[in-house]
Amino acid sequence: MVQGTQVHESDVLVLGGGAAGCHAAIKAKQFGADRVIQVDKGHAGKSSFATFGAGIITVYFPEEDDYDWLYKTLVEEAAYLLDQERLQQHLAMVWGLVKEMDGFGVEFEKTPDGKLVRHPGRAIIPNVMFHGPQMMDALAKEARKRGVKQINKVMMTELLTKNGQVAGAVGFDIVNGDWHIFKSNTTVLATGSTYYKGRPPGSRINTCDGHVAMYRAGADIANMDCTRHNAFVAHYDVGPGMHMYVGTGGKFLNVKGERFMEKYSPEYLDKSELYTLVPAMAMEVRRGNGPIYLDMTHFTPEEVQRLKRVIPIPMTMHQRLGTCVGDKFVKKIEWMPTYPECGLGGALVDNRFETSLKGLFATGDAVPWAGYGGGAYAIIGAFTSGAKAGECAAKLAREITPVDYSGDQANALKELTFRALERKDGIDPDHVLVALQEAIAPYDVLILREESRMRKALERVEDIRDNLAPYMYAQDPHCLRMALEARNLVISADMTLKSALFRKESRVHRIREDFPYMDNENWVKWVCVKEDNGKMAVFAKDLPFERYPMKPPKEKALEPQWKRAKELDIIDIKEGRVAWA
Ligand SMILES: Cc1cc2nc3c(=O)[nH]c(=O)nc-3n(C[C@H](O)[C@H](O)[C@H](O)COP(=O)(O)OP(=O)(O)OC[C@H]3O[C@@H](n4cnc5c(N)ncnc54)[C@H](O)[C@@H]3O)c2cc1C
Repeated sequence: MVQGTQVHESDVLVLGGGAAGCHAAIKAKQFGADRVIQVDKGHAGKSSFATFGAGIITVYFPEEDDYDWLYKTLVEEAAYLLDQERLQQHLAMVWGLVKEMDGFGVEFEKTPDGKLVRHPGRAIIPNVMFHGPQMMDALAKEARKRGVKQINKVMMTELLTKNGQVAGAVGFDIVNGDWHIFKSNTTVLATGSTYYKGRPPGSRINTCDGHVAMYRAGADIANMDCTRHNAFVAHYDVGPGMHMYVGTGGKFLNVKGERFMEKYSPEYLDKSELYTLVPAMAMEVRRGNGPIYLDMTHFTPEEVQRLKRVIPIPMTMHQRLGTCVGDKFVKKIEWMPTYPECGLGGALVDNRFETSLKGLFATGDAVPWAGYGGGAYAIIGAFTSGAKAGECAAKLAREITPVDYSGDQANALKELTFRALERKDGIDPDHVLVALQEAIAPYDVLILREESRMRKALERVEDIRDNLAPYMYAQDPHCLRMALEARNLVISADMTLKSALFRKESRVHRIREDFPYMDNENWVKWVCVKEDNGKMAVFAKDLPFERYPMKPPKEKALEPQWKRAKELDIIDIKEGRVAWA
């Protein structure tokens, strides 16, 4: 089944053709790298989360927004667990990048006199709207125009290393099974994160492959305990759009028809950030008030027409489902949280986005973003981090003495990659995936956390890791991809649950019933994992607050989600734990 071998050489190798990868490739060229190769498991510009994005990016407007207020709010929203130097860098870059993208032909919603239209969403500052998949198409095209060689339908499986330096990567063609070796002076990893193949479109291709490859190669992986849960239409694969829906006035209702966000978040209501919205949904369900619905039946035809321009794919799905007829939503739509997203965890990087492995840069959803809300994450964070990583990788590619991998290493990685294909029979990868989803999906595992429930989930994940995943069988390169993706998702869940159990407090996106206090004395730290002699070592790492303008107050206080729930008499605190009313 394994076909030929193809060897490629580059100055900068970019793994991933999404939001971060396209910017990295464009900037690597702009900063003088001669040979830039971009590899994507799907198709550069067509298969990323960003392609199926909800139509908005959160842009800081230097002439309209108050920098100090925004900076302070972002740091406080992240409960201080974010890299403030990278935040400063992000805010300094973002406006220039948006203007550049305008020049690349990215279409934004504009006023008749050409100004960017800003629209409220869940973010703390209003968003800029782009036109669905057109944005990523334009960025991938710009990369090609500048001479980036894009190789599609090749799945990167492992990194090549020598003495702690990265020499490139390996992978295989998911259609014909060819083995690919990529030798490169520097490598930028931009393979996104995951939603464990849940409902959002685009999420089935991002399976933490990069996180796992970096972990196996020895990088420190941080913040995997911080799982962000999004929320989407229940039962149907409609796609994203919540920013636009709630920004246009969509209202979440519980089964009794109550607009419950009036209680949980009277200031922001349905436009609250996910770390408020999703636990509120889970608490309503925990109290017997589920299911949850989104009501958009009051939207005007003009508002529906704008949704059709900004999120064309979800709006087509709504039409097909009959939830939207012509220019009118005709039904309330059932809504539910997704599987955990791992896009807030990733390799620890410095301000140039270089990882602890020399020559390896990580960017976009493959680096920790701390879970902070509207203003500096997701697509816009992928753009700035990708651009910075591409620039720095191009500069380093000229200075670095490249290392060559050994033939033995390449052969070992080839054997590891093709193992499921060589087996004559075994377990179907979908069986492993469904078992994993069942272990981690329940809302009381990672949305509302507690030690014994997380331990039970971890035991199941370890059982899947040891007793199912090693026996997966693939009859062709397509199924091999499915098997490797399932394997990577199991490792990612293992990292997440071990990290979540390690943190003994509650902090934005990570609320624990057994540790309901936010403990700034002990826990303003990244929780990290690292491979250590075949075992997963978990440890905490301090942030360099001596270099940051904002320092956390030394205090231990009820985490804001729990505080609000206590004020509403939904919970009480007894013997240091949450007691449900
Ligand atoms: C449905 C949905 C809607 C969203 N909407 C918005 C929005 O409106 N605004 C916003 O700011 N954020 C949004 N987000 C989040 C945002 O899209 C991501 O944070 C952002 O795209 C991350 O950029 P990235 O480059 O790291 O990953 P992506 O843009 O997802 O790109 C990753 C790329 O890597 C490729 N890849 C993955 N694994 C491999 C491998 N092994 N080998 C080779 N290639 C590989 C994939 O094919 C993909 O092209 C949304 C996310 C989802 C899931």
